[in-house]
Amino acid sequence: MKIAILSRSRRIYSTARLLEAAQSRGHEVRVVDTLRCSMNIASHRPSIHFGGEKLEQQDAVIPRIGASITFYGTAVLRQFEVTGTYPLNESVAISRSRDKLRSLQLLSRRGIGLPVTGFCHSPDDIDDLIKMVGGAPLVIKLLEGTQGIGVVLAETRKAAESVIEAFMGLKANIMVQEYIKEAGGADIRCFVVGGKVVAAMRRQAQPGEFRSNLHRGGSAEVIKITPEERSTAVRAAKIMGLNVAGVDLLRSNHGPLVMEVNSSPGLEGIEQASGKDIAGMIIQFLEKNVVSQKGSTRTRGKG
Ligand code: ADP
Repeated sequence: MKIAILSRSRRIYSTARLLEAAQSRGHEVRVVDTLRCSMNIASHRPSIHFGGEKLEQQDAVIPRIGASITFYGTAVLRQFEVTGTYPLNESVAISRSRDKLRSLQLLSRRGIGLPVTGFCHSPDDIDDLIKMVGGAPLVIKLLEGTQGIGVVLAETRKAAESVIEAFMGLKANIMVQEYIKEAGGADIRCFVVGGKVVAAMRRQAQPGEFRSNLHRGGSAEVIKITPEERSTAVRAAKIMGLNVAGVDLLRSNHGPLVMEVNSSPGLEGIEQASGKDIAGMIIQFLEKNVVSQKGSTRTRGKG
């Protein structure tokens, strides 16, 4: 197969591993810098140019699109879809997953367990918002944040009010969430490939910190998940329309709660914790699906 990996650099761990896994399985792979792609949209034969030349037709494309370039990255991916290339994850599903609020609304509609979450626009409604999620302590999240940046634990109602007011004053979009204390500063990353959880790890925050992100100094270890956690992760990925996803769960007293569904989950932490060849599993998924579904993505040519 001819496979393009859409990524800013081949030096990024996940990109390097996918490149290596695809090459070792005999595929013709190239890393295509998302921001160096240009697109010919107007003609009868839509095409993609890379580094000043027309990119030859690819069988599959693996999007590794960072949050900061979602707009351009999903446009490039859509162009691959229009030209009949099979995407590992579809552009529409990636756009959907990048909008935290929209994702939670989609998941709630299908009965997935979520932390109680509130959202409002006017500072006049802050009081009601705090009540809606059950009062302090509560978690305030910037909708545009990643890697734990912009996630704040407000221990008292007064602190919550001040932080929410400050964010609103800066015109930042935020959501407010009940604090799942019993999670004990840990979350579970379930790595889903093709409707199966292929590996899971527990990330534990540093002492004195409630955010378990590895970028915030959290540590990871492999964990055995319950059947309920497994089915929640698989369903969440399916609802989002993602073939490959990192589903983050919190263990609460009333079962697993989905915090986020990540459409470009990193491979480094999960491969190191589990010792599994996840990159190889992703390439295997493409091998199975590219031929059977060629040119039949649901979103071909659509927004
Ligand atoms: P990001 O997308 O920036 O990583 P998250 O929403 O995943 O932000 O939050 C970062 C971390 O904070 C999570 O991994 C988890 O450990 C902790 N956390 C987030 N929301 C809650 C919550 N409602 N209750 C308890 N801990 C939370």
